[in-house]
Order: sequence, then C-alpha cells, then structure tokens
Amino acid sequence: MEIFFHEISVSTRQRIEIVDITRQVEEAVTKSGVKNGLCLIHAPHATAAIVANENEYGLINDIVRKVEEVFPIGAGYQHDRIDDNAHAHLASAFIGSSRIFPVKNSRILRGTWQNVFLVEADGPRNRRVVVEVLGE
Ligand code: ZN
Repeated sequence: MEIFFHEISVSTRQRIEIVDITRQVEEAVTKSGVKNGLCLIHAPHATAAIVANENEYGLINDIVRKVEEVFPIGAGYQHDRIDDNAHAHLASAFIGSSRIFPVKNSRILRGTWQNVFLVEADGPRNRRVVVEVLGE
C-alpha cells in the first residue's frame, strides 16, 4: 500500500467563506499514482471545516447563511472572553474538519454535483488543507 501526502494552500477573503478545492484534491490524487484506495481531505485548523456538495452560486450563499444562522458570531459564548471566534470553533467542531472519499480508477468517487470545499469560519486567513491518499 502506498501513502501519499499533499498540502493545499488556500487564502480566504471573508470571515465566513466557502472555497472550492476539488481541482486541487483531484490533482493530488492524480500525482499520488494511487489507483484504488481512500482520499482523506483534512483541514488542520480548529476554526475551519471540510464539506462536500454542489458548487452552485446560490447554494454556496445558502451554506454561508446557514453557518451564520447555526453558529452566530458573538452570541455570548464563553470562549469569546479570551478570543473573538467561538462561533468558528463551534462550526469546525460540529461540521467536522475532514472528509473521506473512495478512490477508484485514479479518481475520487464523487457525485456529479458533489465538489469538495473548505469552510472558512474565521477568515480572512491563509489555510492549509492536507490531502492524504492511501491505496495501491
Ligand atoms: Zn479561539
């Protein structure tokens, strides 16, 4: 079994932002040479998350709105006493900082309307996303 690590750099411009990283993930899988296995996409951050869904302009805005609704900024959280980003920690904790896709015939197995996104919850920042490909 081969294990391959790749790192993606993402710069965000908004406090809450959804960034499509599908192309970079697919390039990493191609570079890995792995034909069949698993692809882990992981954001090593406590205030960001990874999701998979459709890259449609309205839906991207809907996801941003939902993150803001469910995890409102400055809603009296205890962590805001020492830092002003409790909403972002909560978004990361509950949405999750990683996703796993099957790799089949050298491609991640995803639906036509299923792209991979970094969810920035405390931007703007420079973020790293780790892509680990396991298989043969
Ligand atoms: Zn914090």
